[in-house]
Amino acid sequence: MPVSVPLFPLFADLKDRRVLVVGGGPVAERKTEALLHAGARPRVGAPDLTPRLRAWHGEGRIDWIPGHFDAHWLAGAWLVVAATDDTAVNRAVATAAEARHVFANVVDDGELSSFHVPAIVERGPLQIAISSGGGAPMLARHLRRQLETLLDDSWASLANLFTRQRQRIRQRFPQPGERRRFFEALLAGPLPRLFRQQLHAQAEQHFQAMLDERAAATHAGSVAVVGAGPGDAGLLTLNALRAMNEADVILHDRLVSEDVLRLGRRDATYIEVGKSATGHSTRQDDIHALMLEHARKGKRVVRLKGGDPFVFGRGGEELEFLRAHGIPYEVVPGITAAVACAAYAGIPLTHRDHAQAVRLVTAHCKDSFDTLDWHALAQERQTLAVYMGVAGLEGLRDRLVAHGRAPSTPFALVENGSRRDQRVVTGTLADLPEIARSHQVRSPALLILGEVAALAGTLHWFGAPPVDAAVPTQSRNLPAPTLQAA
Ligand code: SAH
Repeated sequence: MPVSVPLFPLFADLKDRRVLVVGGGPVAERKTEALLHAGARPRVGAPDLTPRLRAWHGEGRIDWIPGHFDAHWLAGAWLVVAATDDTAVNRAVATAAEARHVFANVVDDGELSSFHVPAIVERGPLQIAISSGGGAPMLARHLRRQLETLLDDSWASLANLFTRQRQRIRQRFPQPGERRRFFEALLAGPLPRLFRQQLHAQAEQHFQAMLDERAAATHAGSVAVVGAGPGDAGLLTLNALRAMNEADVILHDRLVSEDVLRLGRRDATYIEVGKSATGHSTRQDDIHALMLEHARKGKRVVRLKGGDPFVFGRGGEELEFLRAHGIPYEVVPGITAAVACAAYAGIPLTHRDHAQAVRLVTAHCKDSFDTLDWHALAQERQTLAVYMGVAGLEGLRDRLVAHGRAPSTPFALVENGSRRDQRVVTGTLADLPEIARSHQVRSPALLILGEVAALAGTLHWFGAPPVDAAVPTQSRNLPAPTLQAA
């Protein structure tokens, strides 16, 4: 029967109060655990108990009445939970409880229940209870999961702080109006961020200063340098999602996919600060200036970068700049292209039989080539993940072979890794530049070189299978190795 009037929401203080649980199975165990969490004194009535219930009984945390339900069990109980799998017993419990004016919850039976147990999101002393009145528990659970991902742990710290300081806040601001403004100023300021950064002492200091009015209500801006991953929005972290949902301004690279951008806050200002190897680009200095300008206006800025901000992403420079200008910042790591492309091409970057090390390398121009340790890069039994390498593949091949890497070493070029249009082209080092050219591999593409690359042929699972590109031998133009592996 649908509930025609709304339920009355209620948070009950069960501390040291007796609650009867009828049933000794896994469901009764779960309910008993929740009751213990709330400090109640559960009395479990059932012929037998699960091992955990029995252990709690052994520890004196619960009482146990062995046997079959009897209405006398209700004596002294404030609430009762019927958690047996026998409908007749559950009904008898509900009827007996009704007669004694004891609220009863019958698990999974809203009709028999005189109280419902909501879905809960808990952050310290802060609890969000969700109920659909028993009509659509799936919907309540779905909403609960969404809230779980939305609310980070700083809520618990905030709730703990406010609970602890409740008296002092009331003394300091006796009028409800001033009190509300005080809380609003706290929440708009750096406090939540300081808790997210686990800087509890600083958070406490800031709170004290605000309370003593030593600190002006700051609406200081901040920057979160956030890794957006390789493109598949499912690879975003929860912290990235939360930062994007709180942002006033999102400065994003061109590499960041549409799918990811769609998840950002609707009314944030989106500014593309695209940087591509070719074509129009925003200079790093201009990006710095934009971050500064918006943060100084008190905005929450998200600097959203492809992959991970600290892997060939100039995230380090951005932090140095922010530090130098006194702008508070956070960093949210992202899944870097090497890790994502390998996973989405079915290539384990390390493998007991083939590779004990992996190197992340960037090689986008001649100058950067000269600074690399080619001897080390040419070692066997390791995997190279080469970023921004499409243009310099010839030089890369020549140097690796000259330093002793076998021309037969397998490679995989992963173009648009993790995206709908992902393409994987495989071959051997000897033919790498020719294959890349003939298959017109375009940026963004990542080169994975090493024995593990051959596994793409069998382990692929995403998108089109890899194209195994063999090039006729006469088009090869190999230099003679100058260094032989010992
Ligand atoms: N910070 C980024 C890398 C930026 S450098 C990260 O951690 O992934 C840009 C290079 O990353 C591209 O030239 C390409 O080599 C690689 N890359 C980024 N996204 C890619 C993708 N989806 N597929 C293949 N390569 C990618």
